[in-house]
Amino acid sequence: MSRIAYVNGSYVPHAQASVHIEDRGYQFSDGVYEVWAIQNSKLRDHQQHLTRLQRSLSELDIPFTHTNRSLNMILGEVIRRNRVRNGMVYLQITRGVAPRDHSWAKDIIPSIVVTAKSVDPAQAANRAKTGVSVITLADLRWKRRDIKSVSLLPNVLAKQSARDKGAFEAWLVDEEGFVTEGTSSNAWIITQDNVLVTRSVNSDILSGVTRLSLLELAKELQLKTEQRKFTIDEAKQAKEAFISSATTLAMPVVKIDKSVIGTGSPGMAAQRLREAYIAQGYV
Ligand code: PLP
Repeated sequence: MSRIAYVNGSYVPHAQASVHIEDRGYQFSDGVYEVWAIQNSKLRDHQQHLTRLQRSLSELDIPFTHTNRSLNMILGEVIRRNRVRNGMVYLQITRGVAPRDHSWAKDIIPSIVVTAKSVDPAQAANRAKTGVSVITLADLRWKRRDIKSVSLLPNVLAKQSARDKGAFEAWLVDEEGFVTEGTSSNAWIITQDNVLVTRSVNSDILSGVTRLSLLELAKELQLKTEQRKFTIDEAKQAKEAFISSATTLAMPVVKIDKSVIGTGSPGMAAQRLREAYIAQGYV
């Protein structure tokens, strides 16, 4: 079955889907994106992603030219046309096409692209059984990481370094030695006295939608939580660690650089949170 993408009002074969060379997303990475997990044909944390999208757009002064209803129809249609039951949907809104100039005219029409793809849940389940390793790298990003911007160069370079070293993710570290987040995920540890710790939200990190859902779940599971910074050293001495995102859900981390975390196998709390989050998607 051929894949279908949505581009500026049309549903087109994925292989032919394109935007103009003077799209400001292409030339300046002047745009934002969202990623939803699709579980059992439903969008996970649907409204929370929409809310974050609108905030990202508003912070960059890019107009939201759709209603939630029409955007939802597009997302649903792309998912339907690609027959995705489990997988992800990607939405990108850039400021639009204009003659290249750093400043922009106020009347540019934003470009909207939506794609969807199936992901075999068994693959992630297997990864979660063994856990993943992460490396740590300096956080070289700009100071507005709360905006889900398509400007991801430091993230992609760090992710590639991780993959080149056989790791799944890179944890980025600020100038004071505190972990900010992963290149495409939030970072968590569970201390030796069973406190779930993740960095509090401000412009240092992206406010992960999955992070928020897991914090809610942690409350229901009566896990003690703290939203605060932690250092690489604290992480390396933690009982457990994991990452969260729409695509990885809660994914246990068993190694940070050369340090084995806990027993070297996925920890109980991370596994409970992962299972509870997945179970919620079938309700
Ligand atoms: N932090 C960064 C830098 C990300 O790119 C992502 C997701 O792509 C996340 C955190 C996790 O966010 P979410 O849980 O909304 O997918």
